Amino acid sequence: MLYFDHNATAPVMREAREAWLEATEKIPGNASSQHAFGLAANRAMTDAREKLAHHLGCHPLDIIWTSGATEANNMLLHHFAQTLDAKSEVWISAIEHPCVHDSTKHYFGKRAKLIPVKHDGVVDMEWFATEMADTRPGLVAVMAANNETGVIQPWRELLAICQTYEVPFFSDAVQWLGKMPAQGLGDCDYLTGAAHKFGGPRGVGFLKAPHKHKINSLLFGGKQERGQRAGTENLPIILSMLAALDVREKQLAEGHHETRAVWKEKFEKLLLRQVPGSTVVGASVPRLWNTVSALMPEGGQQRWVTRLDKAGFAVSTGSACTTGKEEPSHVLTAMGFKPNEVAHVLRFSSGWETTAADWEALEKGLAKVYSEVHHGK
Ligand code: PLP
Repeated sequence: MLYFDHNATAPVMREAREAWLEATEKIPGNASSQHAFGLAANRAMTDAREKLAHHLGCHPLDIIWTSGATEANNMLLHHFAQTLDAKSEVWISAIEHPCVHDSTKHYFGKRAKLIPVKHDGVVDMEWFATEMADTRPGLVAVMAANNETGVIQPWRELLAICQTYEVPFFSDAVQWLGKMPAQGLGDCDYLTGAAHKFGGPRGVGFLKAPHKHKINSLLFGGKQERGQRAGTENLPIILSMLAALDVREKQLAEGHHETRAVWKEKFEKLLLRQVPGSTVVGASVPRLWNTVSALMPEGGQQRWVTRLDKAGFAVSTGSACTTGKEEPSHVLTAMGFKPNEVAHVLRFSSGWETTAADWEALEKGLAKVYSEVHHGK
């Protein structure tokens, strides 16, 4: 079975497993305890904080450990809901992950405004620059790269505009981290990430926020994370996350992702040829080297996913599916695709261990399934 769903979650790499095991065996203490075991745990956690801050380019105290990106994103929006004045708007891109979209809607209701995206999936910079010149929101949130399409967002440019107007800028970098170099992301005022998208364990992530202002905790009952997130930190998975990120940053520095981008591009060309009428979403703009979002010409997306599964390929429809009932993608809808097109989208997302041969096998598998679907088999 070939796994093409790394944007949903990626396998835990060996280095991350080893780091987890080592921490579990050798650092049993609670980082808040005052004895030698506690101090050792605290030291290891401080090292991890420094490492992550070094990768991102920020202050180590800017890092708050969380149980993942959903928590980190909710925590940030909860904080802004408590600290912004009652009139301030929060602007988020129309293609944010539901954990940003839904929490913004929950906390801000009508004061939540969507930044439109163009048909290629990139936020509309003209709209943004014009609106910003007119109104100042209390927060702007635009993800670094989209989980469904892989389309990279101009977060550096957005940050620069926000800095001009002194508006805080937040970027959900979940899909960027471990696939693109982290350096520079620390310039964003607020940033979130999660380990399980880049070879670390599930259930751990972080919020990066300027340490000069405290984040209001979502949870009560402990003073961990300088009073910003109550609850004993899970040191083994934090160290495991950093072990994974260290490996990814090294691979990225050595340019290993560039070869993988070529394999993906070759796959896209063959897909368009083998499956007449198919379209690659966001084809004209920079995208992550591992993600292909494709509109199939016919056959419902569930049919494709099931048939590909039987043929030995784990692929996805792309949109967050937590109930087993597929919702039409809000990302593709925001990009202007029609409901009948959105109903045919598939997402193929590779990982670092995916080979050129795996992409070729997927392309052949798709051609076979297409022929079956086309001939009504
Ligand atoms: N943000 C983005 C862009 C994601 O792709 C995901 C997961 O799919 C999340 C946030 C949620 O992350 P987590 O699974 O760590 O809660």
